[in-house]
Amino acid sequence: MPFSERANKSNLLGKSLEELRALAVSLGEPAYRGGQLYHAFYAEKRFDVATMANLPAGFRQKLLDTTRVALPKFLRKYPSADGTVRYVLAIDAPDDFSSNAETTIETVFMPEENRQTICISTQAGCAVDCGFCLTATLGLIRNISAGEMLGQVLVALEDHRAALKPRTNIVLMGQGEPLLNYDAVMAALRILMDPKGMAISPKHVTLSTSGIIPGIERLAQETIRPKLAISLNASNDEQRNTIMPINRKYPLETLLDACRRYPLRTWEHLTIEYVLLGGFNDSPEDARRVARLLANIHVKVNLIPWNPGNLPYQPPDADRIEEFRRTLTEKDVPAFVRYSRGQDVMAACGQLALIESGGAQALAQISV
Ligand code: SF4
Repeated sequence: MPFSERANKSNLLGKSLEELRALAVSLGEPAYRGGQLYHAFYAEKRFDVATMANLPAGFRQKLLDTTRVALPKFLRKYPSADGTVRYVLAIDAPDDFSSNAETTIETVFMPEENRQTICISTQAGCAVDCGFCLTATLGLIRNISAGEMLGQVLVALEDHRAALKPRTNIVLMGQGEPLLNYDAVMAALRILMDPKGMAISPKHVTLSTSGIIPGIERLAQETIRPKLAISLNASNDEQRNTIMPINRKYPLETLLDACRRYPLRTWEHLTIEYVLLGGFNDSPEDARRVARLLANIHVKVNLIPWNPGNLPYQPPDADRIEEFRRTLTEKDVPAFVRYSRGQDVMAACGQLALIESGGAQALAQISV
């Protein structure tokens, strides 16, 4: 679609049931026609309005004249030996459509025995500036809309349509800090978790944050919300300040207070992510401090050995990883070692930065 045409047509993907019903009324149709669109897009995953025979021809034409249904544009995919696929997708130009440039984002599909997990980006780039993360080197390019988040899931599902497992997990661990794009993230999640929408159980959706406390408190008020993961990565403030500058604004004590106050559902625990950086945060003393920090909080800790990258950290030794896990477990803090998937195609969970310049690519990645 030419840029000028695209700029004039609003994207229906990402619109809620209420918004689609209001749109139908604004175009002279009964509100339930909006419900038909909602069902077609999210439950049936059909996007070609012209072929929706259950809609009157006049309504279809009005929709085609004034709106569009735009999925992210598939640019490239990188399949890993372990079945993981990293997608590079193009989304529209920055919000004001002031340029015709497109922004790229990354999405990762990870097949498992009885399910698939899709890791989506919530921002293009990120402003949080974690020192161990290459996405941070991009800075914040722009927020991603609800439709662009749903679009990432839909593109990955469609590409695997022939071999999908019965269950889909969604993790918000790609580029960006989800709680700094709160409204769009929640708009996408409401559709994703709506039994009449994309029908993914809240038990199978996880939002990961660097510790944005106002966002955590807001999420706590939501009736329907995903599971919450906190990216901890340090055992004291001094250490965390070094690798996560956000800790100066929301230090450990206030972050862990927010975790203690967080209203867990009966089936739920908080997930704590801890990237093990060799020689930096992986000592037995670190493990003991982490156990003390997390005492009396209902958590499960994922220990993620850091993968070599273009940043000044080292992968942890295997015996340190095991000692760290054992120390936590012995102190009644359940801990598991999670090795990143798709490392051979730079697809490790969450921390992705694809830097493109004049058609040449420099790929860089670390894992969180
Ligand atoms: S780790 Fe997450 S929050 Fe931190 S800079 Fe990277 S993408 Fe942003």
